Amino acid sequence: MAKKENKFEGYGVSTQAVHTGTDYDAETGAVRRPLHMANSYKLPDDLSTVNYSSTDLLFYSRNGNANQHWLEEKVAALYGADDAIVFASGVGALHALFWTLLKSGDRVIYPNVSYMAVYRMFHELFNQKFGVETVMVDMTDLSAVEKAVTDGTRLVHIETPDNPTVGITDIAAVAEIAHRHGALLSVDNTFASPLNQKPLDLGADFVVDALTKYFNGHGDAQGGAVISNDLEMMDRIRYEAQVNVGAVISPFNAWQIFRGSVTFPLRMQRINTTSQFVAEWLEQRENVTFVSYPGLSSNPGHEVAKKQMHNGYGGVISFGLNTDDKTVEKFCAALKVVTFAVSLGHDESLIFPQPSYDERIHLYPEQFQNGFIRFSIGLEEPDDIICDLDQALKAVGL
Ligand SMILES: *Cc1c(COP(=O)(O)O)cnc(C)c1O
Repeated sequence: MAKKENKFEGYGVSTQAVHTGTDYDAETGAVRRPLHMANSYKLPDDLSTVNYSSTDLLFYSRNGNANQHWLEEKVAALYGADDAIVFASGVGALHALFWTLLKSGDRVIYPNVSYMAVYRMFHELFNQKFGVETVMVDMTDLSAVEKAVTDGTRLVHIETPDNPTVGITDIAAVAEIAHRHGALLSVDNTFASPLNQKPLDLGADFVVDALTKYFNGHGDAQGGAVISNDLEMMDRIRYEAQVNVGAVISPFNAWQIFRGSVTFPLRMQRINTTSQFVAEWLEQRENVTFVSYPGLSSNPGHEVAKKQMHNGYGGVISFGLNTDDKTVEKFCAALKVVTFAVSLGHDESLIFPQPSYDERIHLYPEQFQNGFIRFSIGLEEPDDIICDLDQALKAVGL
């Protein structure tokens, strides 16, 4: 496929969030493009030209559907990128990228802190099933990255800020190391979102964004995207992963995420501000053992974050309580404004404990071993969030 069209290139991000990917409906003149729930589209009269593994001709919804393509225009625009492919989930997007780039005998470097499915893919699946050499590294330590990336390494994958410790990796520095050894760099940018961080501008080759989170922002649809300027490789991903593995997004979910993403910059600005406010409040609190948020000057990643995150530091705060797993659960259950559930980037604030028996807890820095909680800030009144945390801490005697 060619570079995605963006008639609003050069306009501000809010203007692009409103106007890209949409137009008057050709048939009715409606100011919204329709939701097309069709599996099939009319074939051309002359079938001799049809390539059934292609994605640009609309003929079957796994090969591409109209709502998917319109959302791809918006995702590419908000990343200032030439191309984006939208999948059924963030993990579907990650898998599509890894599946297409890697083959037996390739070497991939992946972070010791990452989204769970990335850990599974590289800790037990791609290595054991397909003979990919997978090397886990602390990406916040550039000398460790330098040692791990050898000539012939195919891919370095990073996540910054990372899930769930909110650690920061220096994207430009890792890009330089990767490229010097002939490796590609992919960045999971879900926590930062394109309002705060654009990894392609810092040297990354591919970006993955779980649209389920900030892009959609309303907690009611799942999706994920691969974003890149490498049009040739993007077409390989379409062919190998979208058409022939099939994690295609449903038109309804694409439509839903499209609608949610119109307000994305506005929501993200608000979330950046509230998160900074809540992180600073938590840091003052007596029984809070640590607060991991890149906007805090006390944070070890703060200087790097300042360099690579433009508008703010995102909406996830990890913190610790000076107590046991059971009391952490009681604290979460005592919250009235904040929702006790997994996920992040919704309109509502979400809280999710990371208990001391979690199988990956030993991979995290020392302070995260006990009383560790992941907190995703939502759009509620900032004072209400703080009052809620305060009453729940008191309710469990903290
Ligand atoms: C949620 C998340 C994903 C996966 O997205 P799904 O839509 O749940 O598959 C990937 N990476 C990060 C950092 C995430 O937070």
